[in-house]
Amino acid sequence: MRILLVEDDAMIGTSVQRGLRQGGHAVDWVRDGVAADLALHDTPYDLLVLDLGLPKRDGIQVLTDLRASGSALPVLVLTARDAVSDRIRGLDAGADDYLVKPFDLDELAARVRALARRQRGGAEPQMQLGALVLDPAAHAVMLDAQPVKLSAREFALLEALFEADGKPLSRARLEERVYGWGEEVESNAIEVHIHALRRKLGAGWIRNLRGVGYTLSEPT
Ligand code: CA
Repeated sequence: MRILLVEDDAMIGTSVQRGLRQGGHAVDWVRDGVAADLALHDTPYDLLVLDLGLPKRDGIQVLTDLRASGSALPVLVLTARDAVSDRIRGLDAGADDYLVKPFDLDELAARVRALARRQRGGAEPQMQLGALVLDPAAHAVMLDAQPVKLSAREFALLEALFEADGKPLSRARLEERVYGWGEEVESNAIEVHIHALRRKLGAGWIRNLRGVGYTLSEPT
């Protein structure tokens, strides 16, 4: 997923960004509420991880404006310990879930997966297409009940194709999903990952619709 992280604490921000990236997500990190507004305006995100106590613009204001604009983007709010009123304000302003600092990175990863699952509209933790199964929680892919070893980028790409549910994704959209800001992206990076996925899964799973993008479908 492409995730926007809004957190002004350098230590928390660094560890959350690292943890989510290890989970195969593309994570953009901004440190104040104004930068958050700009990023949300410019980039299509799949999830927002939002600290409430922020410089320049309060997290509650960011969230309130986001919901007022009609966005249904899943939002996980980070609040300070004991700040019960913060949690209530966050949920009232339209947050989907919250975590109280300090929190465990594994718990954050689990909450992120749960929100993504809810967003897909299903309780099914695994995604399946024929003999191909992707398990976001276990970060595992199985083909014909055999594990397939993928890099973090390949996994993120395959997850994006699964979530698109047969709709083609352009190379630009896939780049947005797999890479965050400031990450070096070679011009043929997506093609390279697709090539690797086809080599590991078999060529028939990912189709390239010329000029449109890539889709995931069962080999015929
Ligand atoms: Ca803060």
